[in-house]
Amino acid sequence: MRVLICGAGIAGLTLGWWLRRAGAEVTLVERAAGPRDDGYMIDFFGAGYDVAERMGILAELHGVSADIAEIVYLDGHGRRAGGLSYDSARAMAGGRVLSIMRGELERILRSSLDPGAEIRYGTSVTAIRDVPGGVDVELTDGSVHRADLLVGADGLHSVVRRLVFGPEERYLRLLGYHTASYLVRDAELAEEVGRRALLVGVPDRQAGIYPTRGGDLAAWLVHASPGTALPADTRAEITSRYRGMGGLVDRVLAHCPEDPYYDQVAQIRMPGWTRGRVTLLGDAAHAVSLMAGQGSSMAMAGAHLLSTELLGAGVEAALERYERRMRPFALGKQRSGRGAARWMVPHQAWRIALRNRLFGLADLPGGTAVMGRAFRRLSAGV
Ligand SMILES: Cc1cc2nc3c(=O)[nH]c(=O)nc-3n(C[C@H](O)[C@H](O)[C@H](O)COP(=O)(O)OP(=O)(O)OC[C@H]3O[C@@H](n4cnc5c(N)ncnc54)[C@H](O)[C@@H]3O)c2cc1C
Repeated sequence: MRVLICGAGIAGLTLGWWLRRAGAEVTLVERAAGPRDDGYMIDFFGAGYDVAERMGILAELHGVSADIAEIVYLDGHGRRAGGLSYDSARAMAGGRVLSIMRGELERILRSSLDPGAEIRYGTSVTAIRDVPGGVDVELTDGSVHRADLLVGADGLHSVVRRLVFGPEERYLRLLGYHTASYLVRDAELAEEVGRRALLVGVPDRQAGIYPTRGGDLAAWLVHASPGTALPADTRAEITSRYRGMGGLVDRVLAHCPEDPYYDQVAQIRMPGWTRGRVTLLGDAAHAVSLMAGQGSSMAMAGAHLLSTELLGAGVEAALERYERRMRPFALGKQRSGRGAARWMVPHQAWRIALRNRLFGLADLPGGTAVMGRAFRRLSAGV
């Protein structure tokens, strides 16, 4: 079977890994000029963690996991407003959770990929044509690639989705926030932060500062913004938006690069992910948003499921089964992501105070069970 995967991110590389293992002919096209080191930290748990275990990369992932002792909530003056130990947070995820840089996960997936899978960097898809029993895919280098299956694993702003299913606006559901992230290299600040993950929250804004395994800090910023338009000057927007949230945040802002990661917080909701010999995977199909906090995990789970189905049946039947099995899982996570948004970056001060207290309960005896239930209820919108 010849499979062309558009996007060598978390979903694409995982799918490539499983399909190569089964002997498929795999080509990945990736828009980026080469491997990158994206600067945001992800909590990695759930179904994707299990897939990583089956791929034999868990030990390597643990080796790059941040060594966090405590998650601390701070108010807009930098004062402690709540917190919980990382052990309690880990216990809430059944002990199977990692805090890793997304770039590290991608790097480890890439290095474990069978060399027989080709990755063409600096390449994307410009046109897609159905042919009997397959698909012809025109690439940006002018070549035409014939495959039995094209998988769009090219993220939230998928070009495969646009070419096959129509404009992004039909499927992109904004959650009313913008987010940014970048790496901070400041040894003095890193020493002050120590092994704490700091979350500074005021109504409509939250700044997260996480120690990375490499001794740097990962800054993660989220603010309420109903608009679709992204700012022309990202750094100016970030520094003006987050100013006045305490000295620590100001020091993090001083390190903001000219062109940090910046995007809308959004989900992708589509009635179907497959048309003919083209299907979508990961964020391209069902982005759950950072509010749900399991996008990478789901991208890997979906990739594993798709490869399993492809090995067990003809392409059409496999795609139908993949979608039927994956869809309820994705819809459920999207629902909880929408519910979690109002607690992750609340509009109201009372909600921030309640959330901070609630998380603190996790450190009490039996607290992780109570807290886990309460958070699930709050996330569900109760
Ligand atoms: C700030 C932030 C925090 C997050 N926190 C978490 C978390 O805590 N836990 C978690 O599990 N998830 C988290 N996520 C979500 C997670 O990063 C995504 O859900 C996950 O990366 C999706 O994987 P993917 O492979 O589908 O897409 P991506 O990782 O986006 O990969 C898509 C790939 O396709 C490439 N591409 C894009 N367009 C094209 C094109 N036209 N042609 C060719 N290639 C293309 C991209 O360069 C990229 O390599 C977070 C996301 C953000 C933004």
